Amino acid sequence: TDPAKIRNFCIIAHIDHGKSTLADRMLQVTGTVPDREMRAQYLDRMDIERERGITIKSQAVRMHWATDAGDFALNMIDTPGHVDFSYEVSRSLAACEGAILLVDAAQGIEAQTLANLYLAMENDLEIIPVLNKIDLPAADPERVSREIADLIGGRPEDILKVSGKTGAGVEELLDSVVHRIPAPVGSADGPPRAMIFDSVYDPYRGVVTYVRMIDGNLSPREKVQMMSTGSEHEALEVGVSAPEPTPTKGLAVGEVGYLITGVKDVRLSKVGDTVTAKRKPATEALPGYTDPKPMVFSGLYPLDGSDYPVLREALDKLKLEDAALQYEPETSVALGFGFRCGFLGLLHLEIISERLRREFDLDLIATAPSVIYQVTTDDGREITVTNPSEYPDGKISSVREPVVKTAILAPKDYVGAIMELCQSRRGNLLGMEYLGERVELRYSIPLGEIVFDFFDHLKSRTQGYASLDYEPMGEQEADLVKVDILLQGEAVDAFSAIVHRDNAYSYGTMMAERLRKLIPRQQFEVPIQAAIGARVIARETIRAIRKDVLAKCYGGDISRKRKLLEKQKEGKKRMKMVGRVEVPQEAFIAALSGD
Ligand code: GDP
Ligand code: MG
Repeated sequence: TDPAKIRNFCIIAHIDHGKSTLADRMLQVTGTVPDREMRAQYLDRMDIERERGITIKSQAVRMHWATDAGDFALNMIDTPGHVDFSYEVSRSLAACEGAILLVDAAQGIEAQTLANLYLAMENDLEIIPVLNKIDLPAADPERVSREIADLIGGRPEDILKVSGKTGAGVEELLDSVVHRIPAPVGSADGPPRAMIFDSVYDPYRGVVTYVRMIDGNLSPREKVQMMSTGSEHEALEVGVSAPEPTPTKGLAVGEVGYLITGVKDVRLSKVGDTVTAKRKPATEALPGYTDPKPMVFSGLYPLDGSDYPVLREALDKLKLEDAALQYEPETSVALGFGFRCGFLGLLHLEIISERLRREFDLDLIATAPSVIYQVTTDDGREITVTNPSEYPDGKISSVREPVVKTAILAPKDYVGAIMELCQSRRGNLLGMEYLGERVELRYSIPLGEIVFDFFDHLKSRTQGYASLDYEPMGEQEADLVKVDILLQGEAVDAFSAIVHRDNAYSYGTMMAERLRKLIPRQQFEVPIQAAIGARVIARETIRAIRKDVLAKCYGGDISRKRKLLEKQKEGKKRMKMVGRVEVPQEAFIAALSGD
């Protein structure tokens, strides 16, 4: 296709503002998907995505649109909406020249509207602001148009109004995509450079790599090279999604499509990497490539220890599809054999554990999420800690923790409640701005405080009205300590936590109390202690009982006694021994999940 007749765009929106529904209507209006094959959220392929109504993996689809200026190929790139996947969002945006900024006409601008808008502006995209859901009785197009115009300039009355549900305004929107978004520019016969903006594992075809041709072209059967690693592959198939994969004779400058090389592991085809051709290799990779970096860590353990090999196999499989997932084996006194896993964020953690439950039928327990700490010991050693159990015992000269820049958007009545929450989580106010009836609060907050139920608290303090977005902003030194929980003097690893010194006492008393209620009495007294190093900061006691089932047998029937003994032994299989103390595994699980 002549690049002058190509438009590459994405839709950016806060979650639930109607991106997938609008994409569906575009597929229909352009005739890309015939009416009879249409189903809701056509592009959200994963079951979890459809059920939760979120887009996890971005997809690209080519549509045709005829205007008075001729026929155009529109490549729509669907970006993930969630902050956990902001790197993938940024790469999808880099594949486009323009973006539709979609705002729910009843809700107005939200945190992810802003975050995505800023990303689009950094990528120099042409922005088309659009009001969606104008069919809703609660829609307030005047107010929201003013909010948008205040934010990005222009006149409120020029903002397009559409309904992804009824299809109203969708044709006009496609026309303005053609008229307002610039055509791609690049060198048509220079050394090929294709930017990978998504990489999806397909069990039948191997990895499908989605690319945007920035310069030159790629053809099927030619040798290609990944510029970050130098690894070489053959382009077995090249094509476009329309929306089903459709092989083509090649991908030319400005086009968006896919590449199949037969590799079976997405890590060999990384988002952000540049693909070039052996026949005429590019010397310089496209800017912006980084490796995915896990931010949140958690231990995943099978409830039933015999499921451990199943869990390992499942993780091996998921890793082929998900370059950001990391894991290594780990053992825990309380939970047995499991894996320490690294995730991009909390949603990523949830998605992976849910897929393990669903697709592999595994019952799992996850330890409390932790972040990466950089610990310097007094003798000058630098230790990276992603698991409290790795926290060094000796003298520590400093600990650094990751900090994120958060943006919280809410109706202005909630300012006080939000500030209180952020302060209690060691937040520093960076700025505050009013957008009509709403306020944007910007804080720097330790990531460790965010991963610990921050979002739940934010939602409940604002009756669900606040939205949150965050991005990494480096590290800071902090007065952190490791709190251990001990049963009869033995530390129970799964409950150790790295917390701020000011919160150590409340964490310790909370865990000790929970365990006292959950652990059955033993034949001896069991102290439960919370300690920082050797210093005990909280204590509870489980009183002793004499539980002698044999006493009930009046010393008579031997076989009955034996049966009882055997029964008792079986009951013990689900017991974990911590020193001399028997703890039902359920107690640990309940203590970890907090209920
Ligand atoms: P996404 O998270 O941005 O992809 O949002 P979805 O497309 O999944 O839509 C979120 C919810 O809003 C769904 O329940 C949709 O049915 C609904 N929705 C989307 N567009 C419209 C619209 O134009 N009008 C109305 N009334 N509802 C809509
Ligand atoms: Mg969606």
